[in-house]
Amino acid sequence: MGEYPVSVSLDEALALILQHCAPLPRERIALEQAEGRVLAVDVVAPEDIPPFPRSPYDGYALCAADTVSAAPDKGVTLRVVEEIPAGHAPERALQAGQAAKILTGAPVPAGADAVVKFEDTDFAGDSVTVYTPFHVGENVVPAGEDIRAGNTVAEAGTVVDSALLGVLAGLGCAELEVFRAPRAALISTGDELVPVDAALAPGKIRNSSVYMLMSYARRCGAVTRQWGIVPDGAKPIADAISAAAACSDVVLTTGGASVGDYDMLCRALTLLGADILFWKVRIKPGAAFVATVYEGTLILSLSGNPSAAVTAFFLLGVPALRRMVGRRDEIPQRVKVRLARPFAKSSPNLRLIPGRLELRNGMAYLVQTERQGNGMLHPLVGCSLLGVLPAGSPPMAAESEIEAYWLFP
Ligand code: AMP
Ligand code: MG
Repeated sequence: MGEYPVSVSLDEALALILQHCAPLPRERIALEQAEGRVLAVDVVAPEDIPPFPRSPYDGYALCAADTVSAAPDKGVTLRVVEEIPAGHAPERALQAGQAAKILTGAPVPAGADAVVKFEDTDFAGDSVTVYTPFHVGENVVPAGEDIRAGNTVAEAGTVVDSALLGVLAGLGCAELEVFRAPRAALISTGDELVPVDAALAPGKIRNSSVYMLMSYARRCGAVTRQWGIVPDGAKPIADAISAAAACSDVVLTTGGASVGDYDMLCRALTLLGADILFWKVRIKPGAAFVATVYEGTLILSLSGNPSAAVTAFFLLGVPALRRMVGRRDEIPQRVKVRLARPFAKSSPNLRLIPGRLELRNGMAYLVQTERQGNGMLHPLVGCSLLGVLPAGSPPMAAESEIEAYWLFP
């Protein structure tokens, strides 16, 4: 283990981490499983949607040329030669002077080039009368109006959302090529930790932050596995990292990454001979952070402190996972928001303030709970914004406009 950068900027940290992340190999999955997954190939429409010109109304298909002389006081009467329900192909082409009764979604027959709605006609027996001229294409949905064969409907790197599922189904894509989901293992280090279902003994706390971090990782598309609690010791931590790395694409550890504790994590990583990319980032909270690569697997070691861990995860873990899942937009977008409450401290380093997004009179606000603290989990509930105060920012008044990462739109 050689020299490595210490106390890097956020941009340097991101660059070092992303160098070691790549989209995972592709896999084929059923459309039913595709929600939230990321397309690994461009999807080109093999056919038109709709596949044929169709009627958007119940009415009569006709030839526009037959209606040129139609007027409210001088209707044009056409002979109805066929009825075309949805799901049925027309049996004949229309000739001049003819019409076909047509229902919503049914194919417009050859020879017809317009549709009149039922309510705009008089009809009796096998004849229908119209009272206005129609132009070619009127009330006809052309084939390919929605999607044209040969067009790219979604590019590789696109997250499959609800509507895209519908589009893909419309095109007959029963299976899709997506990037494999990253396998993320979470190791919780700390002698003080007990599992969620254990009774507390003096000095112990429950391993709470792992549930939050696993959930955020899953929201980035990862498949998570909780590795459990590892005591504060170089050897057990090294063993856990080594075992977890062998079957994961990324390993997240918590605890033991801060100045006082760092020796132990550092000794564990030295035992492993892992390649340390950097230690500490100039962000607050979340400065205590180590990024390592061990046998090709990225290891992100976060502070034990829940809000520090989540801040560093949002800034560095989220882009890493987004790159692995194959997204093109790795870094969450920033939006302008106003601070709902003042922020009393000045910020010598880049400062991140998590909060809820709330709309007040149509304006986006970042809302923090009244009580804030680095070790606190409760202020993070409902958080979807990470406010950004650049290094050197003074205390901020309420209503100040700042930028915020919009984490989970
Ligand atoms: P450390 O990063 O190990 O110095 O821990 C910083 C603080 O976070 C300490 O108060 C720990 O008890 C607490 N902590 C560590 N791990 C967890 C965890 N998994 N869940 C909740 N709190 C934790
Ligand atoms: Mg600790």
